[in-house]
Order: sequence, then structure tokens, then C-alpha cells
Amino acid sequence: MYTRIDGKEVSAAVRERISSEVSELKKQGITPGLAVIIVGNDPASRVYVNNKKKGCEQTGMNSFEYALPEETTTEEIISLIEKLNNENGVDGILCQLPVPKHIDGEKVLNAISPEKDVDAFHPVNCGKVMTGDYIFSPCTPAGMVEMLKYYNIPISGKHCVIIGRSNIVGKPMAMLMLKNNATVTVCHSKTENLCEITKQADILVAAVGKPKFVTADMVKEGAVVLDVGINRMENGKLCGDVDFENVAGKTSYITPVPGGVGPMTVTMLLNNTLTAAKRKKIDN
Ligand code: NAD
Repeated sequence: MYTRIDGKEVSAAVRERISSEVSELKKQGITPGLAVIIVGNDPASRVYVNNKKKGCEQTGMNSFEYALPEETTTEEIISLIEKLNNENGVDGILCQLPVPKHIDGEKVLNAISPEKDVDAFHPVNCGKVMTGDYIFSPCTPAGMVEMLKYYNIPISGKHCVIIGRSNIVGKPMAMLMLKNNATVTVCHSKTENLCEITKQADILVAAVGKPKFVTADMVKEGAVVLDVGINRMENGKLCGDVDFENVAGKTSYITPVPGGVGPMTVTMLLNNTLTAAKRKKIDN
């Protein structure tokens, strides 16, 4: 029998803690604020931005939306970010990705002050994640670690195999698992004998972006499987990177899609915004 890891339940528990910390801060005259920039009309981005705004509302934080037209230039976004960098009521700033092709996404991310970079995408914060001495944790990986801890799943000494080496999921997940004393292997599109490696995983993380990529023969009996993938199928339904139906029975714990890793990402973003507001209090 396996346990289905309930991302909504873990998320609700973390948000409850965030809400009570926000109420305490408010008593001291500080309301954490998140500024969200969205460029263009990508429907998926709109859903993500709405979830972030809803999360702010739910936990008592302010959210400020800057919806910019598709034709906005890199320079215009940067000048908005520079303004927000200096605004006291804004503790966190993020630009929803992906941005339209004509915009230099790297320049945009680098313009956000590292002190307000609650997505932890700025090179300064990526570097801090690498050294293990970070202020803001990368949201999706931090959400996964939080879930493992909530279910008392041991990490230390375990072999964690991560499929995917992106800057927002695979690489930072490797760093967080190392910090938690796991032995880490990162696999990617050029990895040879992938199946032989994934079968060694005590904790298997799938961040590939290909529906049902992880099949039962790739998973060790009793492994913990975390599915990061969000793939939209032709019938409109969401599907993860793991063939849940056939894999679940082999695992001890597994995250579903939807309702697994997804809900945790926004929650950890809210947590980073709270952290930024608390740091402001210390600075004052
Ligand atoms: P990405 O496209 O940047 O990276 C995909 C990775 O998969 C690459 O490193 C690539 O090397 C690897 N890969 C591709 N084909 C492979 C193969 N055949 N064998 C082994 N590795 C292979 O994607 P990403 O941004 O890391 O996102 C991955 C998935 O997670 C997507 O479905 C994305 O939508 C989802 N995602 C979910 C959340 C969340 O909150 N749940 C957050 C971010 C991303």
C-alpha cells in the first residue's frame, strides 16, 4: 500500500503558519506585499498569477498586479522593476514566466533586487542556494522538501535521483537535497541508461515536462516518487511526468498531479514574501 502525498493538505498547514505570522507583523504596522508582473495574454500565466494573488489574499498579504501589454519592451519592464525595488510596501517582486520572445528574460530577472527576489531566480540568490546559505528558497524544490518533512520521510543518507536539470527545478532541487544530506544524482536528456539509474532511487524526482515519462520499470519497489510535471493533455486534463496508475503501486509515497507538488510552489512563494517582510523589519 502506498501513501498519496497530499499537496493541498501540506500547503494548507504551511499557509496557516504564514497567516498567523502575517497577523503578528500587521500588529507592528507591516503588511507583506508581493508585486506580480505579467506581460501578454498567456492563459496559463494568467492562472498562475491569479493563484498567487489569491494566496496573498488568503494569508493577509497585499498583492499588486502589473498587467502589461504584449508589446512592452525589456526597458519598460526594467524601469517598472526599478521603481518597485524602491517601494517600501513591496517586499517581493516577480515577473511571471515565460515572457514574450522579444523580451530579454535574463535582463528582467537580473533587474529585480536580490532582497526582493522571492522566486530566488536572481544569480545572487542562485549562488546562495549553491552555498547552502540562502534567504529565499527556490519555491518548487522547497515545496517538495516541505512535503517530505511533513510526512516524516527520511532524506539524510538516501539516494535522490532527479530527472531534469533546469535552473528552476532540477538544479536547485539537487542543492536542497544535498543540504538535507541526501546522495544526489541528476539525470537529463543526454543521460545514458536512465532506467538503471532511476531504479536506484530511494527518492525519485521527475521534472521532465513529458506526460507519463516515468514508467513502472524505472522505479524501485518502495521508492518515494515526486512528480513535478504539469502537462496539459488534449482532453484538457492535467497529467504529470509519472505514469501514476502503473507506478503508484510500487512506491511507498507518491505525489499526484494535480494536487501534489503544484499547490506547494505558490505557498513557498508566499513564505519567501513573508521572509522578505520580516527582514525589512530587522533592517528598520
Ligand atoms: P525544462 O524543460 O526546463 O527542463 C526539462 C528537463 O528534462 C531538462 O533538463 C532535460 O534535460 C530533461 N529531459 C528532457 N527529456 C529527457 C529525457 N528523455 N530523459 C531525461 N531527461 C530529459 O522544464 P522545467 O522548467 O524543469 O519543468 C519540468 C516540468 O515541471 C514541466 O512540466 C513544468 O511545467 C513543470 N513545473 C511544475 C512546477 C510546479 O509548481 N509543480 C514548477 C515548475 C515546473
